[in-house]
Amino acid sequence: MTTMGSRRDFLEKLSISAIGLPILYSPAKLFAASSEPYEGPVLRVAIMGLGSYGTRVAKAMESCKRAKLVGLISGTPSKVVDWRAKYDIPEKNCYNYSNFDAIKNNPDIDAVYVITPNGLHKDQVIRVAKAGKHVICEKPMGINAKEGQEMVDTCKAANVKLLVGYRMHFEPKTVEVIKMRKNGDFGELKFFQGLSGFVIGDPTQWRLNKQLAGGGAMMDIGIYSINGARYMLGEEPIWVTAQETKTDPIKFKEGVDETIQFQMGFPSGAVASCLSTYAMRHLDRFFLSGDKGFVEMKPSTGYGPIEGRTHKGELTQPHITHQTLQMDGMAQLIFEGIQPIVPVDGEEGLKDLKIIDAIYKAVKTGKKVDL
Ligand code: NDP
Repeated sequence: MTTMGSRRDFLEKLSISAIGLPILYSPAKLFAASSEPYEGPVLRVAIMGLGSYGTRVAKAMESCKRAKLVGLISGTPSKVVDWRAKYDIPEKNCYNYSNFDAIKNNPDIDAVYVITPNGLHKDQVIRVAKAGKHVICEKPMGINAKEGQEMVDTCKAANVKLLVGYRMHFEPKTVEVIKMRKNGDFGELKFFQGLSGFVIGDPTQWRLNKQLAGGGAMMDIGIYSINGARYMLGEEPIWVTAQETKTDPIKFKEGVDETIQFQMGFPSGAVASCLSTYAMRHLDRFFLSGDKGFVEMKPSTGYGPIEGRTHKGELTQPHITHQTLQMDGMAQLIFEGIQPIVPVDGEEGLKDLKIIDAIYKAVKTGKKVDL
C-alpha cells in the first residue's frame, strides 16, 4: 500500500468514526481562494489538444489563482497562432506531437494537461512523464486497465504526479453530498441509480471510432455513472452485470457501444443500476437511497449548475466553474499535498478502467463478472 493510500484510509476511518471531517479537504479554503489574495506557487500548465474541451479548460483557468496556462501542444499550427495571441504564450512554450518530448528541457512548464482523444492518452501521458513533467489526463485515463496500469507505473517510476480530470470531485454540491454520506446522514445505503447519456451527432467524429475512442458511450459518458456510483456509495464494486442495446449498427460499429445498462454490487449489499447511452436525451441524473434519507441530482455531472436535493432540502452550495475549481485544487494537491474528498490520481482512473473492462466482458459473455 502506498503512503498516500494508507493516509487516505486512515482519514477515511477518522471520518467514519465522526471525529469531525475535513482535515482531508476544505472546500471553504478553495472558495476563499477567489476573494483572498494569493501569493503561493502557481502551477504552470501546458494544454495538449486544443479542441473543444481544451478550450473550455483554458477559459476556466483564466479565473484560477494557483494554475496558469503557459504552454501549448497541438497538431494544428493555426490554433497555436490564435491561442498564443489570446493567452500571451511565448513561442518557446509551444510544441507539436512530434517534438513535445523536448518539454523536458523547458523549466517554465510544470505540468501537461492531456485533452486529446482517449486512444492517444496512454502514449502521450507516458511521453510527458518521461520528460519529467506532472501529467493531468482527461477521462477515461486510457482505454483499458492494462493501459491504465502502465500509465500509473510509468508516472510512479518517473516520480511525477498523474492526475485525472475528474472535475466532479471538486464540485461544491457533489462534495457536500459526499460529506453527508460520510457523516452517515443517509443511513445504510441500499441503492444508487446513475443515468448518463446524450444523443451523439456527427458520425465521422473520433468518439465513434473504436481506435481513438476505445469504445463508445461507456468510455465517454457512462464513466460518470461508474465514478459517481463509487463516490456516492463510498465503496468499490465487487461484481458487475451488463446488457447492450444497439439500434443503429451503422453509426455504432463493432466495439462502439451505443447503449449499455449495467448493474454493480457492493460489499455492503448496496446495488447500483446505471445506463450509459449515446442515443437518448435528458439523461444526467443520480439518485441515492439509504434507510435514513436520499439524494437526487439532476443535472448530476454536466457543466452545471448542478442541481439537487436531499431528504433535508435543496442543495444550495454555489456554482463555480468546475474546471477552475479542479485546476486550483490540483495545484493545491501538487504543491501542498491537499487531497480532494475523493482522489483524482491515476489509481482512481485505473479503478474506473477495471470496471469498464468488466462491463464490456459482462456484455460479451452475458455473465456476472467478479471484480
Ligand atoms: P475534440 O475532438 O474537441 O478535441 C480533441 C483535440 O485533440 C483536437 O482538437 C486535436 O487538437 C487533438 N487531437 C490530436 N490527435 C487527434 C486525432 N487523431 N483526432 C482528433 N483530435 C486529435 O475532443 P474533446 O475536447 O471533446 O475531448 C478530448 C478529451 O477530453 C477526451 O478524452 C474526452 O473524453 C475528454 N473530455 C472530458 C470532459 C470532461 O468534462 N471532463 C468533457 C469533454 C471531453 P489539436 O488540433 O490542437 O492537435
